[in-house]
Amino acid sequence: MSRIRVLDEHIANQIAAGEVIERPASVMKELVENSVDAGATRIDITVKEGGLELIRVQDNGSGIAAEDCETAFQRHATSKISSGRDLFHIRSLGFRGEALPSIAAVAKVRCVTSAGGDGLGRLLVMEGGRVREYADIAADQGTDMTVTDLFYNTPARLKYMKTVQTELGHISDYIYRMALAHPGIAFSLRHNDNLMLQTNGDGDMRQTAAAIYGVSIAKALVPVEGESPDYRVTGYTAKPEVTRANRYGMTTIINGRYVRHFGLNQAVMRAYHTLLPINRFPVFMLRIEMDPSLVDVNVHPAKLEVRFSKETELLAWIEQEVRRALGAMSHIPKAVKRE
Ligand code: ADP
Ligand code: MG
Repeated sequence: MSRIRVLDEHIANQIAAGEVIERPASVMKELVENSVDAGATRIDITVKEGGLELIRVQDNGSGIAAEDCETAFQRHATSKISSGRDLFHIRSLGFRGEALPSIAAVAKVRCVTSAGGDGLGRLLVMEGGRVREYADIAADQGTDMTVTDLFYNTPARLKYMKTVQTELGHISDYIYRMALAHPGIAFSLRHNDNLMLQTNGDGDMRQTAAAIYGVSIAKALVPVEGESPDYRVTGYTAKPEVTRANRYGMTTIINGRYVRHFGLNQAVMRAYHTLLPINRFPVFMLRIEMDPSLVDVNVHPAKLEVRFSKETELLAWIEQEVRRALGAMSHIPKAVKRE
């Protein structure tokens, strides 16, 4: 008798969830990325008890068509790529078709979505990876996802969760970076009914930075703007007088995706040269655009890591652009102060 078998879909999803869904912030990340990919201009996020009790993401994006509702929760089901070639030209944040089935495998999900402007939508409730309820419902265009009882069926993972404050810290950190990456989207974040962030979505990154870091940091930001044959950078970096004791103010965004890249952060820090006090970190938010073929986002399921095909060149260029921005600042202090 054969001893090797293909695992059933639910087990496969639980295994994938182990990689994709590490903590409440990972659920948040996947849901918000889907809202961004759906072209939302407003994303409202509600969290209870650090996301351990409830995570809700409401958007006014494209919505999911009635015929796609259940498929969206299947493994490897995506509307974002269709061929192997597409993998080298990714412009969306998602593409793996793993998030929704992974979340549904380790939590309870209630999805209300409407793709038309006709006020008609669908309600889909998933539990333990299975459809519990499916019904027509009145709904505005967009998607409203509520995730509760995270890790209810994976006690080992649940035990590993940290305090509400720690989990909330991971969530807010991620939402702040997403808001900086997409200043054209109005974000709101509520925790246990306290409003933690509200951005107006008017496209102004400095306004968004003010909402996140406060006005004094926003005032210390100098614009970084540059273009090379391969890259374009826009954003801000703070004057060296305004530094932080941690790295939470360092944000690099590649083609709309917040990424953690040690080399990029180091390159920006090198641009500050001796201006940066020891053990202090700068505040910056840089959006770098490049042809998707120059960056590999398919490195890890969480997609926070990327690889650049011309890394050395990119890092040298970023260092130069940031240095130029900081240098320009010191020559025209009055112009900067007025902003
Ligand atoms: P991926 O984002 O990699 O495609 P997901 O599992 O996150 O995979 O989502 C599956 C599909 O469900 C998406 O490709 C998209 O078509 C649809 N979807 C999920 N969330 C939303 C949303 N908020 N608005 C519109 N469509 C969505
Ligand atoms: Mg997704």
